[in-house]
Amino acid sequence: MNDAAFNEMRKEVETCARCPLAANRTRAVFGEGPETTSIVLVGEAPGAKEDESGRPFVGLSGRLLSELLEEAGLPREKLFITNTVKCRPPENRLPSKTESAACRQFLAAQLRHIRPRLVITAGNAPTRAVLGTKEGISTLRGRLRSCVWEEMEFSVLPLFHPSYLLRNRGRAEGSPIALTLADIREALRLAREFTPGF
Ligand code: SF4
Repeated sequence: MNDAAFNEMRKEVETCARCPLAANRTRAVFGEGPETTSIVLVGEAPGAKEDESGRPFVGLSGRLLSELLEEAGLPREKLFITNTVKCRPPENRLPSKTESAACRQFLAAQLRHIRPRLVITAGNAPTRAVLGTKEGISTLRGRLRSCVWEEMEFSVLPLFHPSYLLRNRGRAEGSPIALTLADIREALRLAREFTPGF
């Protein structure tokens, strides 16, 4: 996909009505960040602030994750950030299987265009979507996996969902935040290994 086609897809997402989530959204959240990066961060779904602004990870939990990325030396501006579904589910419920399936083509096309070496998944929904597993995030977080998804190969590093981090703000050794910081540092180490100078 060339840059023009990528921008066309952005417009397509903004007006998409392929699933019921279109009915209640204010703005679709396509995602943002450099299209040449080695790392894509995939969250679950837009929340209220994201729906309002059209930008990913700008609500309370997204801001916390952005702060942790910065603290670990991997500022969000270096990543492309998006979600498994591009429109906000009502009451912030999990996207249904039908909604996730309808939106899958957009995530697949984004990854096909960006060609990341590493995909960081934040929370259960994106981790399960990409790895095709039923295992939970508490088992999977911090465990690097190689993955073939939609005929693309990349590594996957799952993180705790940022809303879980928001409810567990302690920073003691072994705490969710301390583990997440260690996971992000590992992601940075891998990105530098994949792309010298990252
Ligand atoms: Fe389209 Fe995805 Fe929004 Fe559903 S969630 S309307 S498939 S962009």
